[in-house]
Amino acid sequence: MAKLAKRTFDAVVVGAGGAGLRAALQLSEAGLKTAVLSKVFPTRSHTVAAQGGVSASLGNSEPDHWHWHMYDTVKGSDWLGDQDAIEFMCRAAPQAVIELEHFGMPFDRNDDGTIYQRPFGGHMSNFGEKPVRRACAAADRTGHAMLHALYQRNVRANTQFFVEWMALDMIRDAEGKVLGVIAMEMETAEIVIFQAKATLFATGGAGRIYYSSTNAFINTGDGLGMAARAGIPLEDMEFWQFHPTGVAGAGVLITEGVRGEGGILRNASGERFMERYAPVAKDLASRDVVSRAMVTEINEGRGCGAGKDHVLLDITHLDPEVIKHRLPGIREISIKFAGVDPIKAPIPVVPTCHYQMGGIPTNYHGEVVVPDGAGNHVVVPGFYAAGEVACASVHGANRLGTNSLLDLLVFGKSAGDSLIKYVKGEVRSMPEIPQSEIDRTLARVDRLNNQTNGVEVNDARLAMQRTMQAHCGVFRFKDMLKQGVEKILEVEKMVQKTQIKDKSKVFNTARIEALELDNLIEVAKATMISAEARTESRGAHVRDDAPDTPATPNGRDDANWLKHTLWHREGNKLEYKPVNLTPLTVETIELKARSY
Ligand SMILES: Cc1cc2nc3c(=O)[nH]c(=O)nc-3n(C[C@H](O)[C@H](O)[C@H](O)COP(=O)(O)OP(=O)(O)OC[C@H]3O[C@@H](n4cnc5c(N)ncnc54)[C@H](O)[C@@H]3O)c2cc1C
Repeated sequence: MAKLAKRTFDAVVVGAGGAGLRAALQLSEAGLKTAVLSKVFPTRSHTVAAQGGVSASLGNSEPDHWHWHMYDTVKGSDWLGDQDAIEFMCRAAPQAVIELEHFGMPFDRNDDGTIYQRPFGGHMSNFGEKPVRRACAAADRTGHAMLHALYQRNVRANTQFFVEWMALDMIRDAEGKVLGVIAMEMETAEIVIFQAKATLFATGGAGRIYYSSTNAFINTGDGLGMAARAGIPLEDMEFWQFHPTGVAGAGVLITEGVRGEGGILRNASGERFMERYAPVAKDLASRDVVSRAMVTEINEGRGCGAGKDHVLLDITHLDPEVIKHRLPGIREISIKFAGVDPIKAPIPVVPTCHYQMGGIPTNYHGEVVVPDGAGNHVVVPGFYAAGEVACASVHGANRLGTNSLLDLLVFGKSAGDSLIKYVKGEVRSMPEIPQSEIDRTLARVDRLNNQTNGVEVNDARLAMQRTMQAHCGVFRFKDMLKQGVEKILEVEKMVQKTQIKDKSKVFNTARIEALELDNLIEVAKATMISAEARTESRGAHVRDDAPDTPATPNGRDDANWLKHTLWHREGNKLEYKPVNLTPLTVETIELKARSY
């Protein structure tokens, strides 16, 4: 029987992005002995790449109200978001941002000293009237500034960091309670148990299941893979956001803040085509709407360049000083990745995979909730999730820009608060770790160490990414989805036979990539299988076979599909749970067709 070294904590947080750091801060400040594990140095987490801003109805430049923000978020979600969680988040936003300001976040300023806010897609005043300035920004490096502010606060609060440690699996006891994680030190390949009274997952997104993605290479859905292997279902995984403006060919993100500052999308004839698709919000319609309009322009032959395969994002009409001051990072990206100085020429862009709306099912307290088999949804003791890995669900079928950074702050904090309460009530000593849990993880690592004549990790990953891109992209087709399910199950067989030629221990990135692929494939299966089953169009999930009728506007079928998907790894089983349409204090935002 293999034994592993063990460390014990009150709380283990996996992930040091915005959500993990906000949660850890709450825990450490409450006096909990807290470990934070991260594959990379905390300030290199993907949150650092967030450009455009964090939303809050501060109303610094013009009137705004949390209720309008809530309305926009429900509408943006295509009514799949839970209205209790959305009210909770939008009400908490102004305070969360002011708190961040007090943590030392260097926001841009208005002349009167208040935080600078820019317009962003789908954020409107007065229940959908016209675009409003709600995105609080630090130039086009908002996530960078936020992550550094949160990291510094954690250092001050004595949070204990385990940098370049990769969690491999979560540990559950026979009753399903979560006891911590098994993790590998990347430098030495040593495997250690991190036992804790409570465990919080903040492992971020999994955009790397797609071939073209704005996501960092580390965004491999590890939290989702670990949860799925431990029997936790994944919620609403068919909903992936394609960001309208990835640099054509490179995938690197150009923030929506560029359109917030006045940027315009143009087709091959120079036409501002968004006027035809979204007469009011135009280029600032929500992301799913803009991405589909762009793909339609390209498919109908109005794309730009020799391959007619992209459109142009034009800011040449803006004052060069505005570009240099408000969008310096974008100018740099454009020059480096597209070879264009946006002061002089428009940037070539295409929709690129950006964000997962689904994730580990939680309530707005950050507690993980699962079906109990008898029709109820119950809390998993000792398990919490926040940030992009979690599905609270505030983003429903489509997230509004700048609502993710807000989600990290609000739900990082609320998950932290729930966890503190739980740990303070947990007086029993640390239980034994079931040997079967240890063996399960070691078997996976050993398989990889012993495999010869297997499949190259790169080949399996490419097969997965190409399948996802071709069969489950911006537009989805019945037959393609059906074939996609078959193909992805074939890819899964490849993943079970991956081999690494280099079996050495010290900083073996090949081993890390193989272990990451074990997680990516779980996410890919969850996505494809959930998408094939949902025979309507809603938010980012758009099928050509969903009819547009008065009862099903834009293909959205509320009579049959106003419900959350839950995918179980075991047998690829799907089940569904109702959307919560009842907010905490205000009235339900009633269903209607979505237009911008
Ligand atoms: C290019 C880009 C720009 C964006 N711009 C904006 C924006 O302007 N506004 C906005 O609201 N949203 C934006 N988003 C979305 C938003 O930034 C992300 O959703 C959010 O930052 C995710 O934060 P997180 O804390 O959940 O995870 P991340 O910041 O991704 O952090 C994940 C953490 O988990 C760790 N981790 C993962 N797996 C393991 C493991 N197995 N073991 C140990 N550690 C692990 C990683 O090391 C990392 O520390 C943007 C996203 C991208 C990709």
